[in-house]
Amino acid sequence: MTTISEKKLRLKELETLIKKYDKEYYEDAAPSVSDAEYDKLLQEAETLRSQTHSDNLFSFLDNVAGKASSVFEEVEFKVPMLSLEKIYTTDELVDWVEKTRAGLGLDSATPLAFIAEYKIDGLGFSARFERGKFVRGATRGDGKIGEDITENLKVVKNFPLEIHAPDLPEVFEFRGEVFISKSDFIKLNEEMETEGKKLFANPRNAAAGSLRQLDARITAKRKLSYIVYTYGEASHLPFKTDSGFYEFAKSCGFDIQKNYTICHNAEELNAYFDATALHRAEVPFDIDGVVYKVDDISLQDRLGTIARAPKWEIAHKFPAEKAITKINSIIFQIGRTGVITPVAELAPINVGGALVSRATLHNFDYIRDKDIRPKDTVFIERAGDVIPKVSEVILSERPADATPVSEPEFCPSCGVKLIKIDDEVALRCPNPACPARRIETLRYFASKAAFDIDGLGERQIELFVDKKYIETLADIFEKLPSHAHQISKLEGFGATSVKNLLASIEKARDITLAKFINALGIPGIGTANSILLADKFGSLSAFEAAGEPVLTSIDGIGDIIAKNIVSYFADAANTAEINRLANAVRIKNPIVKKFDAAHPLYGKTIVFTGTLSSISRTDAQSLARSFGAKPTSSVSAKTDIVVAGESAGSKLAEAEKLNIKIISEEEFLNIAKDADA
Ligand code: NAD
Repeated sequence: MTTISEKKLRLKELETLIKKYDKEYYEDAAPSVSDAEYDKLLQEAETLRSQTHSDNLFSFLDNVAGKASSVFEEVEFKVPMLSLEKIYTTDELVDWVEKTRAGLGLDSATPLAFIAEYKIDGLGFSARFERGKFVRGATRGDGKIGEDITENLKVVKNFPLEIHAPDLPEVFEFRGEVFISKSDFIKLNEEMETEGKKLFANPRNAAAGSLRQLDARITAKRKLSYIVYTYGEASHLPFKTDSGFYEFAKSCGFDIQKNYTICHNAEELNAYFDATALHRAEVPFDIDGVVYKVDDISLQDRLGTIARAPKWEIAHKFPAEKAITKINSIIFQIGRTGVITPVAELAPINVGGALVSRATLHNFDYIRDKDIRPKDTVFIERAGDVIPKVSEVILSERPADATPVSEPEFCPSCGVKLIKIDDEVALRCPNPACPARRIETLRYFASKAAFDIDGLGERQIELFVDKKYIETLADIFEKLPSHAHQISKLEGFGATSVKNLLASIEKARDITLAKFINALGIPGIGTANSILLADKFGSLSAFEAAGEPVLTSIDGIGDIIAKNIVSYFADAANTAEINRLANAVRIKNPIVKKFDAAHPLYGKTIVFTGTLSSISRTDAQSLARSFGAKPTSSVSAKTDIVVAGESAGSKLAEAEKLNIKIISEEEFLNIAKDADA
């Protein structure tokens, strides 16, 4: 993208995307992309706008994002609720302090006081008091018009409905953030899971979803808290500084920021940032950075605001995909094939937009290499949908009693002696009847990749196994429905959730052969191999009957997997289980297609990258497969075609470097459509 018009075209594209994501985030409380991804697009748009000198265009970059939903009454603000400018580095902080001092015309000898405080990751609110009585509550909306949430604010913990203070202004709007503590968020999601409802990704979404309810009784159940940190319209100000405001708010009975500090220069502000980042996991609620404010209100007024944010305050944000937390303990998880994975149990921390309380430690070599111990303070990293991992120990924070963990000798679930196979790093539990392995097998069976049974997650499976409602895979279809009445009496279940569970079990009875094969949990067979095998054999009986030579002749199936399949079917317990299952469900066999060797996709290795707008990636891959193409996930010299969707990144760059044919989603669909006709 080099020319100005190309850049402007991209800006237009970004505007549409960003507006769509704003709506999902602010109005629906259901974002479809991570904050990091969103921030990247926003930054790209800001860079392009300055490169194209279009400061007067693309006003979406100047406005407070968000919009009041029409299901709430509107509340108009006399003093707008603004957003914050954001910085990410120490250099940017130094620049901001210099700019602020220069803006005030201060010489180097004149001191300037700042407040440094937490940036709470919740939902902004404004609460209007007239003659000491709470009269109206609102969300931020677009900053000028918010949504009326008066009744909802009334049920937030400790929220005062009447205030008394000397020199109380006739009109005063307290402003702050409503949030849900990390522990209440975890409890709320556990309840949602038991009820088979969609989980909240993080405490911010949970707080937004809970506060913006038309029925305040739902809000009341959600254990929301709040903190005030500023004010809006005021008939007069009984204080002269922000720290004075905090004293005033406290005397009125409001919860305020307890951890604010007065600083005098960039160095002190930065020290506050570092200390907060280091101890962030100990804060009971989610914070996504710190905020710096000029303390003196007359100086704030002199600095003023730009369109969407004040100039006298700024947010210093934590990096989105990396955070510091503490390892509470190291546990050993047992997978469905018996592999033991050490896992760190963490003080919950937000990384990449999700509250993370566990991170994989892979294996004992990894633990030894990085010298990871319980009680250590560590960096957690998580990029995109990748599983969070412990990337580094902060040795200076290690307590004297942090001792290394040793490899377990016996399975923590069934007590059988663990084994090591050949050169594998991993330890394994060899006992097929191990209860932990059984739970994992059942969990995988019911997961999205297999039977996709809504409302049958890990917690429910553990409970139902414990109650002996299910023991084996087929029991889910054969026995579980007959326990409906008993289940509805269990804590956290009700008639509706049981009805939903039964409905999803019924729905799951129709399944494709590929998903059925995947659900069995044969070692080494995941989604991709299941599709391969289903397409190759076309029916369960043909797959069961295949011997090792036929299996190994399939491109992509090696010796070990072929052996796993054969020994799986050689076990009478497995075939008996499969027969029960096959009677309980309806397997849809794939149409075995004769490929047209002249088709442009036939035999081609194809990679999909970026966001596809009209088809999911899995469906696009199946479509390509139906013409005899071979979809893979990484670009190499063997790749023939790359289909580049929205915001394609490194794979696209790699394809350009290797001179591989690149086509758009539309072109791909045309090729697939033309040849089908
Ligand atoms: P913001 O929410 O990050 O920051 C401004 C807000 O911080 C203020 O309005 C206020 O409510 C709050 N705040 C918390 N503590 C504060 C304190 N001590 N002092 C002052 N204000 C405080 O900014 P924003 O521009 O409204 O939203 C941007 C955020 O929303 C980004 O993190 C972005 O990634 C995310 N977002 C994500 C999506 C998505 O699709 N994933 C879409 C839109 C926005």
